[in-house]
Amino acid sequence: MTRVATALLAAAGLCSGSVACSRAPGPLAPRWTLTKPAEELVADPELRARIFRALDAARSAGTDPSISKFHVRAATVIQHAGVERTILGGNSEYARVPEAIHGETSLMNHVINAVGPDAARRAVSFIAFYGEQCGGGGSCGDCRDYLITTTRWEELLIVCGQASDHTVHVERFARSVVSEDRFPVVASEATGLPAARLDHLAQAAIEARAGGVSLFTSAEEHLGVAALTTTGKVYRAAGADDAAFHYRYPVGAVLQQAATYRDYFVQAILVAGPPGRIPRLCYRDRQYGYESSSFNRKRGLPPIRLILVEEPEAGSSSAASSRRYRATTFEEALPGAFSAADFMPEAVDRFLEQRAQR
Ligand SMILES: [Zn+2]
Repeated sequence: MTRVATALLAAAGLCSGSVACSRAPGPLAPRWTLTKPAEELVADPELRARIFRALDAARSAGTDPSISKFHVRAATVIQHAGVERTILGGNSEYARVPEAIHGETSLMNHVINAVGPDAARRAVSFIAFYGEQCGGGGSCGDCRDYLITTTRWEELLIVCGQASDHTVHVERFARSVVSEDRFPVVASEATGLPAARLDHLAQAAIEARAGGVSLFTSAEEHLGVAALTTTGKVYRAAGADDAAFHYRYPVGAVLQQAATYRDYFVQAILVAGPPGRIPRLCYRDRQYGYESSSFNRKRGLPPIRLILVEEPEAGSSSAASSRRYRATTFEEALPGAFSAADFMPEAVDRFLEQRAQR
């Protein structure tokens, strides 16, 4: 795959690593060989055979990558009601801007269409991608959200069949999941921000949470966010839902505001949820943060600090000193992620050179 081609694909957010990119399939089905690590993960000969059948089937999965021109072909083979079923999925792009239905989302949606959500959750043990090359990263944040919801993700295997040499690469999807409970609890001095700045940003995130739109979103999931950029400016946003279920994510929103002012380099993002609970940050929003943090990496700046603010329960002390913080980075919170800076570094350099505030 050429650098340009990879870059185009990455720009559309359509492939990386186990989410394979591929050319149009040839006429002959390849013979597949598991890599050594994959053999250890897939000891069951029947499961191996199902994976190989899925890879053969994925070669002909229909796709419509009208913008990136790259195909993400996915398949799984399940047992349902005593019958083996092969189900396909593929990416399709659909707007004048880079928007896409991704391969694994398409696939799981088709499994649910075929057997219903409960059976889909029970029956899908792997998702297989057929691609020219494997390795380098996991699913995008949005696909992680979808797979966490629709599969037994703790046991789910992600398979990539590499067409160039017919090797089969397998990893556990669980490696791409990091619960907020695992974000380290840190003293306020260890957040990397001066105390007064930290208090100000936490308060800004808490106040932002009073806004937004939450007609369909539960109070537990409604978040407020504040971002501090390297220019010293603070931006705020809250989650916003709508009847079409096209949720506007708060981290994405706050970064878009900063970018609108050509303020591309972010020091810290604080996330506030309901009092007494750890804020839960969707993987899609982690993807937005990761992409922005990759701008920092291009400039030799530290990664964005991702700080969760835990307010005490309502009725207890509301003093700033009683807040608890969990601090990590988007790199830690979204393992195996990809960004435009990974795939098209020169283009990102040029973009930041031309656009970023001076
Ligand atoms: Zn995706």
